[in-house]
Amino acid sequence: MGEFELIQRYFTRPTRHAVLGVGDDCAVLQCAPGMQMAISCDMLVSGRHFFADTDPHCLGHKALAVNLSDLAACGARPLAFTLALALPDANPAWLAPFADGLWALADAHGCELIGGDTTQGPLNICITVFGEVPVGPAQRPGLAATRAILRSAAQSGDDIYVSGTLGDARLALEALRGRVPCDDATLVSVRQRLEQPTPRVALGLALRGVASACADISDGLLGDLGHILERSNVGARLDTSIATEKLASATLSAAAQTVLTPQQLLAYVLAGGDDYELVFTAAPALRSAVAQAGSLSGTPVTRIGQIEQAPGLRLVDATGKPVANRFASFDHFAA
Ligand code: ADP
Ligand code: MG
Repeated sequence: MGEFELIQRYFTRPTRHAVLGVGDDCAVLQCAPGMQMAISCDMLVSGRHFFADTDPHCLGHKALAVNLSDLAACGARPLAFTLALALPDANPAWLAPFADGLWALADAHGCELIGGDTTQGPLNICITVFGEVPVGPAQRPGLAATRAILRSAAQSGDDIYVSGTLGDARLALEALRGRVPCDDATLVSVRQRLEQPTPRVALGLALRGVASACADISDGLLGDLGHILERSNVGARLDTSIATEKLASATLSAAAQTVLTPQQLLAYVLAGGDDYELVFTAAPALRSAVAQAGSLSGTPVTRIGQIEQAPGLRLVDATGKPVANRFASFDHFAA
């Protein structure tokens, strides 16, 4: 199978909303009146972001999911994506399930594949997604004129929230690496979170005009919240007991009773990585609007702390006593 047969067989479908899709030198998208385009790109490298023998169906899902998660964080509606693929060989036994996993998630979000690039090389999957958000006005003077949810607009006094649960993906990673013992039922459950994350697209859309700032949690809660704090020039106070009691899934909490130390549990929740939940801020006056966004989108949302004027992240326990922050978030080039 040659390059063009491969593209034709696995990655070409009639265009739906795009003006031009696969087959031309460029794809062409039409912006609806009053809308702007939100664009994000994420690359998955074999051996770095996933084990080389990962189920290709899961990989197709995850490659798009991590990109849709970025659109969700901005409150953007998914429209289309491109796929740049480096493959060691044109193997139908790998390509067919990979394409199935990709198309299933793409169809679930009405997001169409409009182009890409295909080359021989070490397995590497790079997707760029295109979404739409309504045009401005800016939330405040000095901020971008868009209704996209920014990282830079959190304000002192805002509440901090997290969607869903955190830490399952990290338990799966440690179990698969053989560093933490894990029974079969637990592994099946947490592996699903690692390999087939759910991008919180509906929640992101519901949070437009409600959340002051938002980021998706790919590198760990503290690290990704840290990006919001830095870009917004604020600090935060976060209750670690709420984090372990409300943000750990039932599966992770059960594992914590047997195979994890309390420190490990806290580290997985606060800095686990690969969660693809949303961390966001909103004014206290909007608490019922946040609850409504959660229920409208069918997404559990937990309030975990507050934005403060003083820069830095202050972790406290249930009694308000400081907890040392020794939780490094993931950084590919950290020394
Ligand atoms: P060019 O060399 O002009 O960049 P290519 O020959 O690489 O174009 O690709 C031919 C067409 O197939 C283009 O429309 C391109 O967007 C599309 N394409 C290539 N690889 C993929 C892929 N993996 N998935 C979807 N479309 C692809
Ligand atoms: Mg090309």
